[in-house]
Amino acid sequence: MNRKKVRPLIGQGKVADYIPALANVNPNQFGIAVYGNDGTTYHAGQAHTDFSIQSISKVFSLTLAMKHYGETMWERVGREPSGNPFNSLVQLEYEAGIPRNPFINAGALVVSDMNQSRFASPHYAMREFIRRLADNPNLHSDKVVSTSEYEFRARNASMAYLMKAFGNFENDVEDVLHNYFDNCAMQMNCIDLAKAFSFLANKGYSRHNDEQVLTARETTQVNGLLATSGLYDEAGNFAFRVGLPGKSGVGGGIIAIVPNRFSVCVWSPELNKSGNSLAGMAALEALSESIGWSVFG
Ligand code: GLU
Repeated sequence: MNRKKVRPLIGQGKVADYIPALANVNPNQFGIAVYGNDGTTYHAGQAHTDFSIQSISKVFSLTLAMKHYGETMWERVGREPSGNPFNSLVQLEYEAGIPRNPFINAGALVVSDMNQSRFASPHYAMREFIRRLADNPNLHSDKVVSTSEYEFRARNASMAYLMKAFGNFENDVEDVLHNYFDNCAMQMNCIDLAKAFSFLANKGYSRHNDEQVLTARETTQVNGLLATSGLYDEAGNFAFRVGLPGKSGVGGGIIAIVPNRFSVCVWSPELNKSGNSLAGMAALEALSESIGWSVFG
């Protein structure tokens, strides 16, 4: 990977500050980990440093919901890119409370509502699922982050109540918000995340815990959604520059999938204007350039 293209970007972005607890992260950090389908792991930089996974958790929630609801879940959430910021309310009103996709906040809230209907303790079910996928029993959610998110929940709460008004929300909004924020506030490092999402590179199979997490078909569907909607309203630019299914979070992490080969996680807390890690995007671009491979040929 060409470090010269990545390093100068550190110091050029802005750490997320709309969640006050995230604003305190040291911006001058970068980590990367790769987990191959043969179980080989490579890592560099601060790959062992935990960070807030934020929206990357939406991929875990979607996976859990798909396992239980299958095709029926798509009656409540769409599969189209939104072209709007991740926390936008505008489409929800004129599209009758059906969010465009599971990776914008409204979509993730509906998916969380589905998981809420299914599990007695939805966050604990999610945490156990993530621990199993990452092969790390110590993973936990940061209470300071989730409490701070709950305190500043007005926008997410508005989306959820609007969907409730349209009949697309089954549970108590405040309960779902608590679980959603607890999921976003999971602390993980690049190695945990590369390992946890290895099933998406391996036809749905998680090698280290010998589990078929999703079917091969569902796996290509999730990767398709990641490629079209995983990077907020910058998914097109990510497809152009990196050419891999990916999901970012405002904590500065990005996971990307090289189908049938490996999963990768990069992390650097400073974000660009679309809310994606500035150095992380550049690192993934350099990686896809150096392996000479993308899902687009
Ligand atoms: N917990 C964040 C929110 O709901 C997630 C944002 C993100 O990473 O996109 O606003």
